[in-house]
Amino acid sequence: MTIDLKGQTAIITGSSTGLGRACAIGLAREGMNVVINYHSSDKEAKEVRREIEAAGGRAIAVQADVSKEEEVIKLFEACHEEYGHLDLLVANAGLQADAAFTEMTLEQWNRVISVDLTGQFLCCREAARIFRRQGVHEHSSAAGKIICMSSVHDEIAWAGHVNYAAAKGGVKMMMESMAQELAGDKIRINSISPGAIRTEINRAAWEGEDAMNELLKLIPYGRIGEAEDVANLCTFLASDASDYITGATIYIDGGMMLYPGFRFGG
Ligand code: NAD
Repeated sequence: MTIDLKGQTAIITGSSTGLGRACAIGLAREGMNVVINYHSSDKEAKEVRREIEAAGGRAIAVQADVSKEEEVIKLFEACHEEYGHLDLLVANAGLQADAAFTEMTLEQWNRVISVDLTGQFLCCREAARIFRRQGVHEHSSAAGKIICMSSVHDEIAWAGHVNYAAAKGGVKMMMESMAQELAGDKIRINSISPGAIRTEINRAAWEGEDAMNELLKLIPYGRIGEAEDVANLCTFLASDASDYITGATIYIDGGMMLYPGFRFGG
């Protein structure tokens, strides 16, 4: 298997931190030009850019709120101005606003749906329009690729996080329906659905021994995931090595989807 992404370009949303950051660095390592999208502070985005450039890669950092249509359009325009081409979107930006269901405010519901679901819709639509216009070209077998960052909670119900689970469940069907509609245009669309990966979004779940021991009860493989685990899968799905995969949700979770409570029999 060869992974050759040289000369291709990717936009990774929410890539100044966490999984997006690791995906951007991983894709740049394989030769991709990257657009690091960040929401508010450019400090971490600039650090990611510096890290990529120090390793000989090419990157720009662009501010945009993925839940705002006009900002998403500007993000894709900035990519076009810099690189003139787009091959991959990693729709990764996301957040949580947790609350017991009966306490959840409309603001908390809307905030999560507007970033985690509508934000992915806006970015995917923009990317698909560009891929259709561009068609297949010399660097890749596909006209374009989209990777949606979903979650095991597109399948596993999650008390206290109804807005987040609803958004990720929505991403699953959005991704599959887009993949079905756009496969004829040679656009490949897949989801990565992580379990517990060590980032800021879930710090409370892994920081400290007690929290980690509780978490590990849910993970048969016996360790928390690292951002690089997800970045490796992202690189594979971006490359022609996965050219026959579209409409797939790949769970990367150390076995969290395997009903871990049953692993001791009974
Ligand atoms: P993170 O908090 O480090 O990353 C989320 C990023 O999204 C941040 O950089 C944040 O600034 C950005 N963002 C938030 N709102 C935005 C907006 N409106 N516009 C643009 N960017 C915005 O956490 P992470 O774990 O790296 O999360 C990345 C993705 O992975 C999310 O979609 C999350 O739901 C998903 N995920 C993470 C885990 C995990 O265990 N870490 C598990 C399942 C799914």
